[in-house]
Amino acid sequence: ITESEQAVLDEIEAEGVDFLRLQFTDILGTVKNVSVPARQAEKAFTDGIYFDGSSIEGFVRIQESDMRLVPDPDTFAILPWRQKEESAAARMICDVYNTSTGEPFEGDPRRVLKNALDRADEMGYDVNAAPEPEFFLFEEDEEGRATTKTGDQGGYFDLAPKDLASDVRRDIIYGLESMGFEIEASHHEVAKGQHEINFEYDDALTTADNVGTFRTVVRAIAAQHDQHATFMPKPIPKINGSGMHTHLSLFKDGENAFHDDDDEFNLSDTAHSFLAGVLEHAPAITAIANPTVNSYKRLVPGYEAPVYVAWSDRNRSALIRKPAARVPAASRVELRSPDPSCNPYLAIAVMIHAGLDGIEQGLEAPDPVRENIYEFDEEKREEYGIDTLPANLGEAVDALEEDEAIYNALGEHIASKFVEAKRQEFEEYLVDVSDWELDRYLETF
Ligand code: GLU
Ligand code: MG
Ligand code: MG
Repeated sequence: ITESEQAVLDEIEAEGVDFLRLQFTDILGTVKNVSVPARQAEKAFTDGIYFDGSSIEGFVRIQESDMRLVPDPDTFAILPWRQKEESAAARMICDVYNTSTGEPFEGDPRRVLKNALDRADEMGYDVNAAPEPEFFLFEEDEEGRATTKTGDQGGYFDLAPKDLASDVRRDIIYGLESMGFEIEASHHEVAKGQHEINFEYDDALTTADNVGTFRTVVRAIAAQHDQHATFMPKPIPKINGSGMHTHLSLFKDGENAFHDDDDEFNLSDTAHSFLAGVLEHAPAITAIANPTVNSYKRLVPGYEAPVYVAWSDRNRSALIRKPAARVPAASRVELRSPDPSCNPYLAIAVMIHAGLDGIEQGLEAPDPVRENIYEFDEEKREEYGIDTLPANLGEAVDALEEDEAIYNALGEHIASKFVEAKRQEFEEYLVDVSDWELDRYLETF
């Protein structure tokens, strides 16, 4: 038993925690959990908890289904929606092990991110990440099912009473803070019913853990207010969708390796190469960072979401933006394509690998594009050498298969399962007949 494990056991005792939820995510990023009585905590640390992996999406075949969960004591947190009762429940995020080999399980997305961080570490870097998940709050119908109706008429940065959801948002923030989140800001986003809550940057692993927790807490607390929170990327056509911009920086020996006082953009050569690597691998990253059919309804011109593979130090139509940084420690790059339907472990892992690849190859970033790229025609894009992101899930999966560096970053197990699942999803979509088609054609022909 380590010191931090003992600290968890003490807290379980002191807070009267009855149940422990042991969490991990499947390949698609869905949080799974096994609940065990809190008195099993010590055994969980020493022996792990065994479970059947065959029923988890993309995990294993029945013949080799025994998996072992080992909780990470640093992720211990009491769940906010149980606090008011006599007893409390807490969760810990786990690493998954293969019982037959005793090795970390190659199908565990958290492991994929750890591998990316090991690669960074070998190059002398620590990775910091901060996501900006956006979401919609919708009303529920009488049966408690989600609708796409919002009672709220607010817009960007509006205050109550227009912003009816500010109560819900406040409770969400209390819940997140009680689980250890440092909330930086929250605001009403551009669209009706759309919100954003930003939490402080952290090391990349903690940040990926936080995204899973964030989505769970937002949904649970919204439900207490009879609201449905959705992280679906584009629930309503013709208005902004929900992104999850991801800010990244590398630190070396405690200093921000992305900062350079003398550079026009305050970005170091390291940062420029990292950025160039992300641009180079952008099509393959898209499959992971934008993994649903619906993701591509967001990546269209005109709604502050990226479509073109370019970077900028100011404008929001570019794929990568360099946000203004007041202090050197804050120099970073912001990737604007990810959406909150992604698996945060895999998404952050492939961004890191792409950037490190750029550093290893000594890639040079192209010039930034300061104009509104949405307004460029094809000719002008060609003149500037600007590529377009994959237009749909099928194209993105093709790009992933063609990009060896990114495919291999996921490991054969996850990469092949992911490609298989997403191809199937895209094919199902292609043969479906949508409401739009019925509206348009049923009576015309
Ligand atoms: N909602 C926009 C998106 O889809 C982003 C708006 C913003 O800049 O925060 O990415
Ligand atoms: Mg935003
Ligand atoms: Mg942003």
